Amino acid sequence: MTSNAPVTTAITNATIVTSDAADRVIPRGTIVLADDTIIEVLPAGVAPGSPIDTTVNARGAILLPGLVNAHTHLAMTLFRGYADDLDLQAFLDRLIPKETEVLSEAHVRTGARLAFAESFRSGCTTTLDMYWWPQASLDEAKNAGFGLESGPIFIGFDGPDRTPWDVRLERARATAPHRWLFAHGTYTMEPSQLAEVGTLAAELGARFHIHAAETAREVDDVRSRFGRSPVELLDYHGILRPGTVLAHAVVLDEDEISRIAESGTAVAHCPASNMKLASGFCRVPELHAAGAVVGIGTDGPSSSNDLDMFAAMRTAALIHKGNRLDPLVLSATTVLRMATIDGARALGLDDRIGSIEVGKRADLVLLDPDSPSLNPVYDPISAIVYAASRADVTDVWASGRKVVANRACTTIDLERTLAEARLEAELIGR
Ligand SMILES: [Zn+2]
Repeated sequence: MTSNAPVTTAITNATIVTSDAADRVIPRGTIVLADDTIIEVLPAGVAPGSPIDTTVNARGAILLPGLVNAHTHLAMTLFRGYADDLDLQAFLDRLIPKETEVLSEAHVRTGARLAFAESFRSGCTTTLDMYWWPQASLDEAKNAGFGLESGPIFIGFDGPDRTPWDVRLERARATAPHRWLFAHGTYTMEPSQLAEVGTLAAELGARFHIHAAETAREVDDVRSRFGRSPVELLDYHGILRPGTVLAHAVVLDEDEISRIAESGTAVAHCPASNMKLASGFCRVPELHAAGAVVGIGTDGPSSSNDLDMFAAMRTAALIHKGNRLDPLVLSATTVLRMATIDGARALGLDDRIGSIEVGKRADLVLLDPDSPSLNPVYDPISAIVYAASRADVTDVWASGRKVVANRACTTIDLERTLAEARLEAELIGR
């Protein structure tokens, strides 16, 4: 083998849950990775056509695509448990002054690294992350091999990074290109500022992400101050468009649902955060019926306390059934798609991630075939959504790189990260 030949790995005897267009499940299948790409997906009994360097026998384990977290604030791992049992406004009132007091670039690096370790071990390989000092997180993600989607963030005051509005705009322009621009929310900035960020994103070819219509109070507040609801404001300024992702979108009327779907705007549904902050139920069934793309997010580990996409999937699958008194309202298959291929579509990455298909990036999660809580398995998709937990994740590949091996992170120095995190927590708790 020459040094330029790709490194190939075959994962054999796997229950492959593809999340492809037909939601195929391949029993005792084999997949072949060459460097960072899936090059073969084979049914039982078919041998790989490529020469194989390493073979992993999955012993029947479920193999699923790396999960996609469509909305969070990763470095808020360091604020986990700092502001519980509060509604959104009380939560922000407790959190923002503390962030302003303690946040630094170093804090963000530590918090992000801790978040990558937690995410990897929870089977998540790609995340849309809105937070301060995004470049620090992007640098750490590169080292860890994590699929981080991030970029400059805008809010209507100077923010914890103490950057005035004009400087923030200028800096975003000077450091372009960006995959994303973020605006915190329509209630934390003037409509003119919202319009400026929306225009800059369009100019720079960046995607756009914002919290919108999370609570009834936010919608009432924005309507009384600016004469339009959050979604109407976004629409008015031309920001409802392909490439825009709205986090939460809990409080929507029929027109807003239609506008979101027709405009190609995606939604990041954060069921655990919406329950914990007592915000309400996102109208996911209506958004789906209208044709909108809906991914699933954990939200920050301060408002829902973890980055567990298995818990987020199960919560999403359960709350809508209970709320609508309809067991069919959101099936396990639909929910798994939301956490994989639909999340990838929301992030504009569905040509590269979100399903196990030839040509896609090798982002893969293997579950423990011997887990007592995952046996027996009649329907692997149902097992993933209703029975699996992140404790069942044994091995994870991100872009073909083994980032979790036998439940341990291989690309992150967890001991050092935990030591740093504990020091930061002392500062926060003071
Ligand atoms: Zn959020």
